[in-house]
Amino acid sequence: MEFLFFMRKIGRKGDDMYTLASKESKEATIIQVKGIQIGGGNLTIIGGPCSVESREQMQSIAQEVKDSGAHILRGGAYKPRTSPYSFQGLGLQGLEFLSKAGHDQGLPVVTEVMSVEDFDTVEVHADILQIGARNMQNTPLLIRAGQSTKPVLLKRGMSATIEELLMAAEYIMNAGNNQVILCERGIRTFEPATRNTLDLSTVQIIKQKSHLPVFVDPSHATGDWRLVPAMSAAAVAAGADGLMIEVHNKPDEALCDGGQSLKPWRFREMVKTCKEIKEVIHRA
Ligand code: PEP
Ligand code: MN
Repeated sequence: MEFLFFMRKIGRKGDDMYTLASKESKEATIIQVKGIQIGGGNLTIIGGPCSVESREQMQSIAQEVKDSGAHILRGGAYKPRTSPYSFQGLGLQGLEFLSKAGHDQGLPVVTEVMSVEDFDTVEVHADILQIGARNMQNTPLLIRAGQSTKPVLLKRGMSATIEELLMAAEYIMNAGNNQVILCERGIRTFEPATRNTLDLSTVQIIKQKSHLPVFVDPSHATGDWRLVPAMSAAAVAAGADGLMIEVHNKPDEALCDGGQSLKPWRFREMVKTCKEIKEVIHRA
């Protein structure tokens, strides 16, 4: 115990602790991406479809996301699907549709990178690289992300502890990239009423332990668009630095996750409410 305390005090890396991600190494991380500041008291909202489906779909949703006052556009081109028969994403073409739509609206884009082989390609098109829940402990992928100059949005594994999430962030930082955003997206529990169980206390627990910004994804956490506005508001009240929300112009026809996607007008209302809540929290 004394030894561990000593190691932490002198800032040496032990094999069972995260030092770079720890609050002890830094007060707060602020990430700059194309004029957007993430962390440091700002509320950053990411919106967009689960998957990039077509040029028209991305252009239309990007416009709605921009008009809503959100800050970053999302869309998956490489999709980690449970079934091999489900839509797997448009790959490179999807990246091109996403980056063009973001560029046209002046919005930075975030998209998932699933493998080390795809990394170079995704890195060219993305402003922020997402590592998904299923890959949170894919160490070669974390190390490759650590060699990137672009920020990384690291999602909590569905059965990962907070400590394991911080250790995964440490892998990225230890490989040279300090621009890591953590994202709570719900964990697996015995409760079947929601797709996952949104573990909101994670936000404050991470704030106590780490200087990294923390986002919440209520879309994957609940799996139900009807729960998303209230859980988004709750996440902001709980101190989240940002939100990641699935938005679709035609949720009934979505190729992936339509049931948890907000229609643009609902997203717009949600953004407005969340900004108001952030103001109150800020003042408090
Ligand atoms: C996603 O955000 O597109 C996604 C697949 O989420 P998760 O990795 O949290 O399941
Ligand atoms: Mn999705």
